[in-house]
Amino acid sequence: MSYCCYYCDKEARSAHSITVYSNNGTEERFEVLCGSCYADWLLSLKG
Ligand SMILES: [Zn+2]
Repeated sequence: MSYCCYYCDKEARSAHSITVYSNNGTEERFEVLCGSCYADWLLSLKG
């Protein structure tokens, strides 16, 4: 089973699942990121 990256839409070999919140913060869903996008996402969390 393969996943497509939420950000770059490429197939993610090593899938990292994240929780994405909507703008108002009341809804959340799970998305899958590839390794490089996951690293970027972690950096964005740190600000
Ligand atoms: Zn990606």
